[in-house]
Amino acid sequence: MAELLIKNGLVLTFAPDALTGQMLEGGAVAISGGSIVEIGATAELEAKYPNAQAIDATGRLVMPGFIVTHSHMPYVLGHNMPVDFSQLHDFWDMLQKMGWEWLEDITTQEGVYAATRYAATKMLKNGVTTVCEFVEGPNALPGILDASAKAILETGIRAQVGYEVTERVPGGHILKNISVANAEQGLEENIAFFKKYPKGGGRLEGRLGLHTAFTNSRPTMERARQVANEYGVGIQVHIAEIPRAFVVEKHGMSAPQILEETGVLGPDVIAAHCIDLTDEDVAILARNKVNIAHTPMTNSFGGNGVARIPYMMQNGLNITIGHDDFFTLDIAEYLRYAFLLHKAHNANAMLLPIFQVLDMALGNAARAMGLQNQVGSLEPGKKADIIIIKPDSPSPVAPCSALSYFDMTFQGRQVETVLVDGRVVIENGRSTQVDEEDIAKQCQEQAKILWRKTGVNI
Ligand SMILES: [Zn+2]
Repeated sequence: MAELLIKNGLVLTFAPDALTGQMLEGGAVAISGGSIVEIGATAELEAKYPNAQAIDATGRLVMPGFIVTHSHMPYVLGHNMPVDFSQLHDFWDMLQKMGWEWLEDITTQEGVYAATRYAATKMLKNGVTTVCEFVEGPNALPGILDASAKAILETGIRAQVGYEVTERVPGGHILKNISVANAEQGLEENIAFFKKYPKGGGRLEGRLGLHTAFTNSRPTMERARQVANEYGVGIQVHIAEIPRAFVVEKHGMSAPQILEETGVLGPDVIAAHCIDLTDEDVAILARNKVNIAHTPMTNSFGGNGVARIPYMMQNGLNITIGHDDFFTLDIAEYLRYAFLLHKAHNANAMLLPIFQVLDMALGNAARAMGLQNQVGSLEPGKKADIIIIKPDSPSPVAPCSALSYFDMTFQGRQVETVLVDGRVVIENGRSTQVDEEDIAKQCQEQAKILWRKTGVNI
């Protein structure tokens, strides 16, 4: 039995990975009950499932949806915000002013809802079917995660969501003003969410957000791990986006060292950034099997340096792609930037071939989120989270060229159809779930409200 048959496409299974995955010309994927039941030649599957509704993918690529492992969707409200750069002297100012004062601290639940609806829809339209979302907004508690969840459920994307646990006090200087009670409030927000969306309950589930080792004390880190274990959820955390010396000054040790000591690290952890790390720090992350969310565009924007991704790969770390929602939500931009950056940075064209970059947004990312049995590749039994791409290419996209297409030519707008749980959520490049004009308008309204709070006259 199959209800749906995607047929006549160039099927890229990416199972078990991009390099060795099967490429099937004239291929078909049969779907039933939201899952893939069979992959094979079109004629064979047509004969086997004569009553299935058909989606014709002639001239198109059929592949698993992309996965982004680090995201702050409400950040889209800050896109293009006029910023007084004379107030920003270094990354610390960028974080304190641009990140916190001018964005997170004045975020409202209405803003989170509007921005998340917009960002999740954009991600879907560009071929991202799963996202790990890290919500921040200390003055929008409690209930900020309800606003995020409502938007995510409406758009049709698959997500793990958590709220940042932080001792940072909004409005105060981070080095002088911290509060354990603030962290406790963040934990409560996560716990309330885990109860509403228990692990394995569907397309939305929790992942505890621990802001950083720098913005939390040892007891809070220990408590975060306890809560994650109690609810059977993973942890997401920022590591080493800021200089290593800052954390050493605060805790007497580096972020990986104190996160290991407090029991936070483990194979269920996704650590974003991971830039200023020593070889010993990398060894700590590797022995704890921590997953890395590489965010090269944000790190370049903030002048934070370049994470040593090739070195981390050599040391066995699982590398995935995050994007922080700072720029366009076109996954192609993030893939291409990661593909190019390490070659330029190390003057070595052999680093990060495209198959490794694709794995970062597919199989590696699924593993990092603990969803490797559900998404990240096309295989019978997995969720039917599938994208159909109509390449706009000057050359043939065939089995011999399909991987290179992703570093040379692919753009998110070439994604035509997107299925999540076997349901078509994007058809002919448009959302079937929400009114795109309306969500863009609402998002712009919320951006205006936020900008005005920063003194922008609009
Ligand atoms: Zn982040």
